[in-house]
Amino acid sequence: MYKHVVYWHDTEEVTAQAPLRDRVDCDICIVGGGFTGLWTAYFLKEAEPALDIRIVEAHHSGYGASGRADGFVTPTIGKDIQALVKEFGSQRALEASQAVGRSILEIGRFTRKNRVDAQYEANDYLMVATDDAQLRRLEHDRALAERMGAAQAGILSREESQALVGSPAVLAALRTGGALVNPFRLARGIARVVREKGVTIYDDSPCLQVVPGVRPTVVTAGGRITADKVVLATNVHMDAFPPFRRKVIPVWTYAMVSEPLTDAQLGRVNWEGREGLVEAKSLLTCTRLTHDNRVMFAGGPAPYFYGRDKRQRNMNRPEAYREIHREFLRFFPMWHDVEFGYAYGGTADVVRDYAPHFGTLGGGNIAYGYGYCGNGIAATHTGGKVLRDLVLGKDTDYSRLLFVDDDRRKPPASFPPDPFLYAGARAVTRLMEWKDARA
Ligand SMILES: Cc1cc2nc3c(=O)[nH]c(=O)nc-3n(C[C@H](O)[C@H](O)[C@H](O)COP(=O)(O)OP(=O)(O)OC[C@H]3O[C@@H](n4cnc5c(N)ncnc54)[C@H](O)[C@@H]3O)c2cc1C
Repeated sequence: MYKHVVYWHDTEEVTAQAPLRDRVDCDICIVGGGFTGLWTAYFLKEAEPALDIRIVEAHHSGYGASGRADGFVTPTIGKDIQALVKEFGSQRALEASQAVGRSILEIGRFTRKNRVDAQYEANDYLMVATDDAQLRRLEHDRALAERMGAAQAGILSREESQALVGSPAVLAALRTGGALVNPFRLARGIARVVREKGVTIYDDSPCLQVVPGVRPTVVTAGGRITADKVVLATNVHMDAFPPFRRKVIPVWTYAMVSEPLTDAQLGRVNWEGREGLVEAKSLLTCTRLTHDNRVMFAGGPAPYFYGRDKRQRNMNRPEAYREIHREFLRFFPMWHDVEFGYAYGGTADVVRDYAPHFGTLGGGNIAYGYGYCGNGIAATHTGGKVLRDLVLGKDTDYSRLLFVDDDRRKPPASFPPDPFLYAGARAVTRLMEWKDARA
């Protein structure tokens, strides 16, 4: 039997912050205490330490996608770089990709400087191919990166790849800069650091409404915060606010985490560099080791549930875990005796053009950032700088990145309502499965 509990949540105890029970006036109110909201608070405080910043969070910092991510800190933006090049041209795609690439290193520096024990491992990750179609995709991605002027290593042969990770399924690999992290500890760590800088975080304080105005007001069940600027950073829950009602949908993704591997089990698979592994396909699978040598295997089906269902009961999906386990054994048949204790899921915020959106509403005093499509650990860090500059009204390299909705980029198109959305999402999944099966 599995625990439908997020593994990372068991690695750090939460001390709850008091909920909002008052009327408050401040400079900036951020709604949502995930990476987007927390990094925004951090960069604003770094830029202007005197700012009075308040965060209202429905549960506690890191409760959402940030604290249940698989922990791959990668330069991936939205779906893939190919789509960005097509829409924005290679120069703007490269600028965005380099900004997110810098974030990978800066997150590591942040953890060291602030003594955040987020189990950050600068291990790179390997995009691996397990069939011919995936190998063609690796070659295509590499050629594209080269055309864009991004330095890329060569594709590793089967022997070279298997010398790095002893999985008989791996036929080729492409090494890409990246890191691994414990995402919940990272989120809790950023929350601690911003509190030390004077930011107030209200836990268990879901925002029920944002009243627009010269100074917008954030309303919760227990109080109200009126601020010069409001930042909406609620990810998949952006659909609670009218301008975003049909702009984002929740797509579930699932993960399993084993019991700590024994020395004998560890000895059966060569994986000295502890790189994260991501399979080069549409409905990707990925795997990594945790700090305490558990193996995580994640991905596979990515369902949308009717009615934008985000309820936690969707973590109980035996068929998803059966598929993940099957895939795990395809990669690591020698780990047939590994026991999985944790099986859980979370919702990624998918937008129609598969790339994050940042911008402002209400004459500039409400800012937003969302739409990471399941690739947000590094991108939220970059996004925090984008939101800092949008909030401070500064024209910078960050406020000009392709993520920003401005005269060059429109907000994402709306999704249709159910049942059309449900039917469309199923059709897209089938198409991806068909593409992935075509070797
Ligand atoms: C299962 C899973 C695995 C993933 N793995 C990876 C990975 O390996 N690598 C990677 O790069 N990305 C990964 N991602 C994506 C990444 O986790 C997200 O893109 C990123 O965490 C988004 O951060 P966020 O702050 O925007 O959202 P969140 O972390 O979801 O934060 C939003 C916060 O807002 C709060 N909230 C919602 N509504 C309200 C309200 N009305 N009032 C107040 N607060 C509210 C929520 O409680 C939540 O804490 C994964 C996502 C999932 C779901």
